[in-house]
Amino acid sequence: MNGSERDETTSPRRIPALVLSGFLGSGKTTVVQRLLADAAERGIRVALISNELGELGIDRALLGKSDQAYIELEGGCVCCELSDDLLETLVELQREIDPDRFVIETSGVALPYDTQLNFWREPACDFIGDDMAVVVVNADQLAEGRDLEGTFVDQVQSADLMILNKVDLVPETDWPEIEARLREIEPEAPLVRAVRGDVDLDLLFPPDVGELDRRGPTPKSPSHHHEQFETSEWNPDAGMPCEAIEAHLSNAGLLRAKGFAQTEEGLRLVQVVGRRVEISEPEEAPPKALLGRIVLIRRAAER
Ligand SMILES: [Zn+2]
Repeated sequence: MNGSERDETTSPRRIPALVLSGFLGSGKTTVVQRLLADAAERGIRVALISNELGELGIDRALLGKSDQAYIELEGGCVCCELSDDLLETLVELQREIDPDRFVIETSGVALPYDTQLNFWREPACDFIGDDMAVVVVNADQLAEGRDLEGTFVDQVQSADLMILNKVDLVPETDWPEIEARLREIEPEAPLVRAVRGDVDLDLLFPPDVGELDRRGPTPKSPSHHHEQFETSEWNPDAGMPCEAIEAHLSNAGLLRAKGFAQTEEGLRLVQVVGRRVEISEPEEAPPKALLGRIVLIRRAAER
């Protein structure tokens, strides 16, 4: 939290940011395309910064359709050589476009955590909201035991969420074994399976309570391509200690959570990103209707 005084009358709104990493061929571009298509359909403005040289294939028509912004950073890697350019680009996009979401697609060799560090630098730390690092892993690569050292290890170990993509290329009987292989490298971060990058996009950008209200009681249309997740609401009692909230959330098998709680210590913004539970003082109070309401996303119980 930034402790310095602000002389602005209003602080900028917080924009959630997603870092998407994974080797060439992992299928992360497909995930980006799904995010863009979903956003275009729902009128959400995405600013995409891509550092993935050569593999683009981003549908430019899609980008043009609903004022999405797209910037390519070339000539190096965003987690190291180009980190200043990344910071500058974020600032420019915030000033000129003020998108609803940032998506940063890194090159195959980038380290997601090092990329995320740029969100905490001035002045990005004043407008970036919750951030998450997602690493897309090619199931086929795991099955064949290819390139599982070095950068691969560094990438998956800094993931908030791992997407095990292309599981359809591996016999289902081998899934437990390849997942165990990934678990040896990264035991804790949540792991979801996907075919052709089809993941529940709520995991990447969780809905807020307002969005849940708008969706109403009708369940989302079921997808046969990805694992099922359920979104629910938890209403912690007013005056609950932060510690108790944290304990509740870290044992709830959650992949994401987001909302506001009236705790013993005061009003708090509560977020779960993979294995991280973050409870912080919000910069401004949310509308009354959102108080004491936390959106939870977890794997649906197997039926
Ligand atoms: Zn780098």
